[in-house]
Amino acid sequence: MNAIIITVGDEILIGQVIDTNSAWIGSTFNNYGIDIKEILSVSDDLESIENAIRSSLKKADIVVMTGGLGPTKDDITKVAICNYFKVGNTFSQVTYDRIEKIFAKFGRPMKESHKDQCFMPDNATLLMNDMGTAPGMLFIEDAKILVSLPGVPFEMKHLITDRFLPYIKENYTLESKIYHKTIMTAGEGESFIADRIAHLIADMPEYIKMAYLPSLGSVRLRLTAKHTDEILIKNKVDHYAQLICQELGSLVFGFDDQSLEETLLKIFTEKGLTLTTAESCTGGYLAHRLTSISGSSAYFLGSTVTYSNEMKMNLLKVKESTLSAHGAVSEETVKEMVMGLLTLTGSDYGISISGIAGPDGGSPEKPVGTIWIAVGNKNKIEAYKLNATKDRLRNIEYAANVAMNKLRLFIS
Ligand code: ATP
Ligand code: MG
Repeated sequence: MNAIIITVGDEILIGQVIDTNSAWIGSTFNNYGIDIKEILSVSDDLESIENAIRSSLKKADIVVMTGGLGPTKDDITKVAICNYFKVGNTFSQVTYDRIEKIFAKFGRPMKESHKDQCFMPDNATLLMNDMGTAPGMLFIEDAKILVSLPGVPFEMKHLITDRFLPYIKENYTLESKIYHKTIMTAGEGESFIADRIAHLIADMPEYIKMAYLPSLGSVRLRLTAKHTDEILIKNKVDHYAQLICQELGSLVFGFDDQSLEETLLKIFTEKGLTLTTAESCTGGYLAHRLTSISGSSAYFLGSTVTYSNEMKMNLLKVKESTLSAHGAVSEETVKEMVMGLLTLTGSDYGISISGIAGPDGGSPEKPVGTIWIAVGNKNKIEAYKLNATKDRLRNIEYAANVAMNKLRLFIS
C-alpha cells in the first residue's frame, strides 16, 4: 500500500510552524510497510484542500491529512471534505458528550464553536480522540482511504498509533514487509565509508537498499529491505550489517539511532568509571548532551564552564605561561585543562574543549573553527585539533560530537 500526506495550514506555508507531522507519519508508515509517495502542504483555502484531496486520492491508496479540524474559523478541512464527497453534516452526539465531559473536567463552559465542531460529514467513520476534542475521520471511497486528523502533533500521533494503524492491520494485508537496521558510525565521512564497503553493497540483493545519513561528525548507515518474506529480509539485513561492522571496525558505535552519549553511558557504567568535562567554547553544551540521557548521574560527575583565561587558571590551574606562549586555543592548554580537571574533581576520565567558535575572533594562525579537544585519564592525555567552519552553533555541536567520539575510542 502507498500513501500521500497532506498537511493543511497557512502557518506551515509561511514557515511559522515546521511540518513535523509529515516526518513522523512518513517514518511511522515506512516502518509499518506503507510507502510514502508524496508529501503536500496546502493553505487554509477550500479549493486548495479539495483539489489536494482529489488529486491525491487518484494517485495513492491512502491519503492522510492533518490540521484544520479545530473550532476556529480558519479550520475548514471538514467543509472541504464534505464538498469533495458532496455530502452534508450530521450532529454527532457522541462527540458532543465527549467534549462536554472534557470541559466539565476543567470547569469551563463550552462555546458555540465547540457545538459546530460536533457536526461530522455524513460518510465519516469517527476515530475517537482520547487526547483532545476533535475526533479523527476515516472515509472509504472506491477502495481508497482518506483519513483526516487534528494538526496538534500528540493528538495526531495518538490517532495514527491507536486508531488508524490497528484499523489497517485488521482490514488489510500488506503485501510486503519492511525491515530496517541502522548502523551508527563516527569519525569518518560518508565517501570514505562508501569506498570501504563498496564491495559489500555490490554484493547485496536488490531488495536491500542502503542510505547514508551524514550529520556533524557522524554518519548513519540505514539498511532497508522490502520483501514478502519477513524472515528472509531480517536474516539478510542482519548478515550484511554484521559484514559492514566488521569492515568498519571501531568507526561503528551502535545501532538504530543509539547516540554517542548513550554509548558513553553504557561504556562508563559497565566499567564503573566516572567522567567530568571542562568546556570553553562549547559553554556547557557537552555537559547538557551527556546529562540529557536518563541514568547519566551514574557516571557523569559534572562540568566546569571555564570560558575566560582567569577561570582556566584559577579553577583548572592552567599555567599563565602556557596561555601566553600558546594561547587558550592550543594543544598545551586543553591538555592542562584535563589535568587540572582530574585533580579538581577526582574523576577517572576528563574531556576539555577550547576553540574559536566564530563567526568572529579568528587569526591567520588560528582561523575561526580552530578547536582543540583533549581526552584522558591520570596516565595519559591525548589532544586533537579540528578545523571546523565559521558557523558558531554548528561548531559547538561538531566539537561536542567529536569529543564524545574521541573519548569512546580512547577508553575502548
Ligand atoms: P485545533 O483543535 O488545535 O485547532 P486543528 O486540527 O485545527 O487543531 P491546526 O489548527 O491546523 O489543527 O493546528 C493546531 C496546532 O498544531 C498548530 O498551531 C501547530 O502548532 C500544530 N500543527 C499543525 N500542523 C502541524 C504540522 N504539520 N506539523 C507540526 N505541527 C503542526
Ligand atoms: Mg486549529
